[in-house]
Amino acid sequence: MNTEIPILLANPRGFCAGVDRAIDIVQRALEIFGRPIYARHEVVHNQFVVERLRQQGACFVDDLDEVPCGSTVVFSAHGVAPTVWEVAKQRQLKVLDATCPLVTKVHLELISHARKGRAVILIGHAGHPEVIGTLGQFDAQYGGSIHLVENITDVESLSFSQEQGLAYVTQTTLSVDDTAAIIAALKSRWPHIIGPAKNDICYATQNRQQAVRALARQCDLLIIIGSANSSNSNRLREIAERANVESYLLQSRHDIKDQWLTNKTSIGVSAGASAPEELVQEVVAELCRRGAGPVKELTGTIEKVSFSLPPALRRTPAPT
Ligand code: SF4
Repeated sequence: MNTEIPILLANPRGFCAGVDRAIDIVQRALEIFGRPIYARHEVVHNQFVVERLRQQGACFVDDLDEVPCGSTVVFSAHGVAPTVWEVAKQRQLKVLDATCPLVTKVHLELISHARKGRAVILIGHAGHPEVIGTLGQFDAQYGGSIHLVENITDVESLSFSQEQGLAYVTQTTLSVDDTAAIIAALKSRWPHIIGPAKNDICYATQNRQQAVRALARQCDLLIIIGSANSSNSNRLREIAERANVESYLLQSRHDIKDQWLTNKTSIGVSAGASAPEELVQEVVAELCRRGAGPVKELTGTIEKVSFSLPPALRRTPAPT
C-alpha cells in the first residue's frame, strides 16, 4: 500500500525583489551607520523578518515623532504619503526610502492622472499601508478627486458623469481575478476610463498566485507561509480556498496541526512575498517529521527581477 504524502513546493514562492531590497536597505544602513536605525512601520509584513532586524539593531516605530531629530529612518516597502516626507524633513531625519519601485510606479501614475484633473479610482484594501501611502499622493489642487474601491459593490455606489475624466490604479498585491472583475465593472459603467496598459498588480504577486493556482489542482491540503497582515499571502490562501482545497496561512512550523494531515494524499506549500525561504524549509522539515514526504519542487516562472539600493548604500566594487 502506498502511504506516501508528497509535499509539493510552489515555484516561485517567498521573497520578491522589493522585499529583498527593503531588508538589504536596513541591514546595509546598520553596517554603514551603526545602531540604531529606525524603521517606520514593519519594513515588510513578516514578524520573523522584523524580529531578526530588531535583533540586529533596527528600531521599529509607528510614528516619526518617536524618532529622535537627526536620526536615520527607513520608510517601508509599502511606500508613504508626501506628508510623511514633510514630517521627516521638519525633524531633519535622514531618510532611506525602501518603497518598492513597483509601488512608486503606481504613485507616479496616480499623480499624472491627478494633474490632468481626472477623478482617480484606487482599487485596494482600506487601511493597508500601501493604500494609505498611495491615497496620500493625490493632490486636490488640480481639481480632480480620489476614490477607494474594494469590491464591485463599491463601484456601484460611485457616481460620475460620462464627461468626467476618469482613471484607475490598483494596489500591487491584490487578487488578479477579483481585480479583473472590478476593472470590468468600472469599464462597463465608464467605457472611457483610463488604466495602466497592464494592471498594477506586481509580477511577484501574479507569479505566486499563478503557482498556487496550479498547486491547488494537485493537492488536498495547501499551506501558505506568511503573516496574517501580509496582503499577498492572504490572497494566496484565498486561491486555495476558492479551489475547495483545505488551506491554512501560518507563521511558522509551530502552527502545524496533526489533524491537517489525516487522510491527505498530497500537500502543497507556498509562501507570500515577505516570507523567508528559511521558514518554508522549517515547515517542510516539520511535515516530514510528522510522516509526510517525499518533497518535490514544482517548476514555474523564473524571476530575474532585482532592484538597486539607494546610492548612499551601494557597495563600491572591489579594485581589480
Ligand atoms: Fe514590490 Fe510586489 Fe514585492 Fe510588493 S510584493 S514589494 S510590489 S515586488
